[in-house]
Amino acid sequence: MMRIPASNINITELEKSYVRDALESGWISGIGGYVTRFEDALAKQVQRKHAIAVSNGTVALELALKGLGIRPGDEVIVPALTFVAPAAAVRNVGATPILVDVSRHSWTLDPEKVKEAITRRTQAIIAVDLLGSPADYDALRSVASDIPIIEDAAQAHGAVYKGKAVGSLGDISTFSFFANKSVSCGEAGAVLTDDSALAEKMRLIAGHGMSPNRIYWHEIVGSNYRLSNLPAAVGLGQVERWNELTQARRDVGYAYDTLLKGAIAHRPICDYALESTWLYCVASPQREMILDHIRAKGIDARPIWTAIPDLPPYRSSEPFPVARKIAAEAFTLPTWAGMPKALIEEVAEAVLEAVNEAKLEAVLA
Ligand SMILES: *Cc1c(COP(=O)(O)O)cnc(C)c1O
Repeated sequence: MMRIPASNINITELEKSYVRDALESGWISGIGGYVTRFEDALAKQVQRKHAIAVSNGTVALELALKGLGIRPGDEVIVPALTFVAPAAAVRNVGATPILVDVSRHSWTLDPEKVKEAITRRTQAIIAVDLLGSPADYDALRSVASDIPIIEDAAQAHGAVYKGKAVGSLGDISTFSFFANKSVSCGEAGAVLTDDSALAEKMRLIAGHGMSPNRIYWHEIVGSNYRLSNLPAAVGLGQVERWNELTQARRDVGYAYDTLLKGAIAHRPICDYALESTWLYCVASPQREMILDHIRAKGIDARPIWTAIPDLPPYRSSEPFPVARKIAAEAFTLPTWAGMPKALIEEVAEAVLEAVNEAKLEAVLA
């Protein structure tokens, strides 16, 4: 057990009261008042017409792909650096993920490289708002004007791109509310869109393909992606605390910024966005040495994900120089809403010590 965890939840009496109420109501399945309230609050928070709650952020991506009619033979562009879910979702609907390198200036999809990767078969682009930083949607649309964009906003609750909330930037946007995400209810996800026909289709697929007007009448092949009323009750409380939770994480980020200034490289900050802090992320060529030092103190700092083209199911011999460099050097520091100042200082202290030690070893070597 690590003494300082990588992340932590922030649940108050509000969420607890909603869960108690949901339990006492007897409605515990995916049909219940809190599911609808959670969906409405979420849609309002990020200014979208429709939100559909689902059981996690990965099936949210699968549902978005199915909503767009993506099928075997289709290509979907996916960033080469992200948590694996977007690539897996494309494979799970039988389509082919086309990995594209990220930009060194944003760590998100590089629009120029997206342009080069587009073929006749490209049917969608999944853009990931990585580590609280929105992808550059205007630039992506200018190189791919007629290809639908799915925005994976799982890591960026509360970020803003040119005045628009993250979660409103894709033709379809998805969220995860997994335990370590900025707004969380354990395991949950959502798809959002302004397109009413698309929303209706996705709701149909998510609910067994059953007609809303006729019981046990299934016109299409559906599945069950629904979220239960209990996590939805927690989720409603969390969405009502959205601004408070995202601001609390930003404050942790600002504290790390001040304490670590000049000592280690921070992930790039884009001038086109107001970022949010998910997990505070830094990078160094001496990452392994630094991580060993920090982790030996019981601090759960973690290396960022392996680049997707280096994972067995998605292996590629193309270079992906930016994604692979970041994957080799970046790591996250413990971050959660309400993380005590003393713990932030302790983590920063360990990082500074480790950086100095790594410098010394480099001189001696
Ligand atoms: C966490 C995450 C997901 C998956 O969400 P789950 O709810 O854990 O299935 C998808 N995409 C990205 C970028 C994520 O970080």
